[in-house]
Amino acid sequence: MNESPEGAGIGGEGAPPPPLPQPAAPQVPASAVPPIEVGAAPANAGTQPAGADPSPSAAQLPEALAPPQPATIDTENRRLDDGVNRCPRCGSTEIQLRPATGMLICLFCRYEWAEAQIDPVISGDGDLSQLSGTIIASGAADIDPAVSGVLTLKCGGCGAEVVVNTAQAMSARCHWCRHVLTVNDQVPNGAVPDAVLPFALTHAQAVERIREFAGKRRMFAHRRFKSEFTPENVVGVYLPYMVVDGNASADVWGYGEVETRRYTRGSGDDKETYYDADVYQVQRHVDFTVDDLTIESSAERADMNAFVNTNNIINTILPFDTKNAVRWNASYLTGFTSERRDQDVSAIQPVLEHQLLSIGRSEVAASVSGYGRGVRWEHERLEVKGTRWVSMYLPVWLYSYYHVERGRGMVHYIAVNGRTGETMGSVPVSQGRLLLAAITAGTVIEALAIGFLVVTM
Ligand SMILES: [Zn+2]
Ligand SMILES: [Zn+2]
Repeated sequence: MNESPEGAGIGGEGAPPPPLPQPAAPQVPASAVPPIEVGAAPANAGTQPAGADPSPSAAQLPEALAPPQPATIDTENRRLDDGVNRCPRCGSTEIQLRPATGMLICLFCRYEWAEAQIDPVISGDGDLSQLSGTIIASGAADIDPAVSGVLTLKCGGCGAEVVVNTAQAMSARCHWCRHVLTVNDQVPNGAVPDAVLPFALTHAQAVERIREFAGKRRMFAHRRFKSEFTPENVVGVYLPYMVVDGNASADVWGYGEVETRRYTRGSGDDKETYYDADVYQVQRHVDFTVDDLTIESSAERADMNAFVNTNNIINTILPFDTKNAVRWNASYLTGFTSERRDQDVSAIQPVLEHQLLSIGRSEVAASVSGYGRGVRWEHERLEVKGTRWVSMYLPVWLYSYYHVERGRGMVHYIAVNGRTGETMGSVPVSQGRLLLAAITAGTVIEALAIGFLVVTM
């Protein structure tokens, strides 16, 4: 047995088998299944996983080598196709969301109702572990750069033609008869998602959360922030996300060490600690599914460099109860602003794969805890067997605060989850006060990279 200062010996032939779930796995050498370096993982791993059966339809075609086309689920709300969303009771088009109930309300007769939940339309009763191929809901389809997003709607009230620019608004009032016309067609410009998760927190509740948040951090906040806080600047925004279900497996290969003996030699300054360790080749495989992983679908928001503050803050107010999202109806947006999705599935796929691999790695972690000195993974491989993509608007109350420090303007945000009230923000910090505080409390808040997920095995 070797011995070396803080270095590992190699497990000898006579090493006793330690109590591990899988002590060594030389019977399946890494070369048997060629490992793919993570960095080199092909972007199309999801559409044509190595070793997976091609879909039956693709196999019958002569061009069987071409990646299978993604399947689609039509989510368009046909009931609203005429652009006039009428109150089911009185026929009025004066409709908006009432956050206190999460329902649409007719402003004329006060009748309340809701669109049906989207989840049964998307998931059916399928088992996620059977999910295969790429399934894309129609609202998550690729954005067509040629589509301007300017729509002409024919008023169902008087027949006039009304123009709506979907880049700015999702509804318009007929200038002749005052009917409200809403955009419910899925224009392929990213403006109309499959589903919307309505605001459940009122503006007043959001303002209260923001006050509370800033108040608790009084010692960090600039006096000016409190004096300049204007509740009117708290705005409700629907932010575009992709909500993804996935069926995947991960394989990892590496070396795990188990310490067998530790001792010191020498004395005084020459004293050194040695240890002996057995090294094992370790291999793990995990099959898992993820349900409703939420990933930003606006490049600006997903770009860590451009909008570090917003991006991180919004991630910290996850999760959203995406299972309660409803079918698209533009009336849910009345009184709120929204941001358009500008990323297609193909652009978000690498982000998804990165997150899936992280999940796979963490799933494996518990099973290698027996290797006391840890496991060094040398190769990792992700197989994406199936994914299902739904585009969704998620509700966020945002307060932005412009702040100049040392001649440099900075925008800080406080964001409130429009469903749960979870609040996070970057309250502008006075550097002097922060340094003082740091002496007594060294707290680092780091944004979570992964949102809501349920892992089943
Ligand atoms: Zn009504
Ligand atoms: Zn009209």
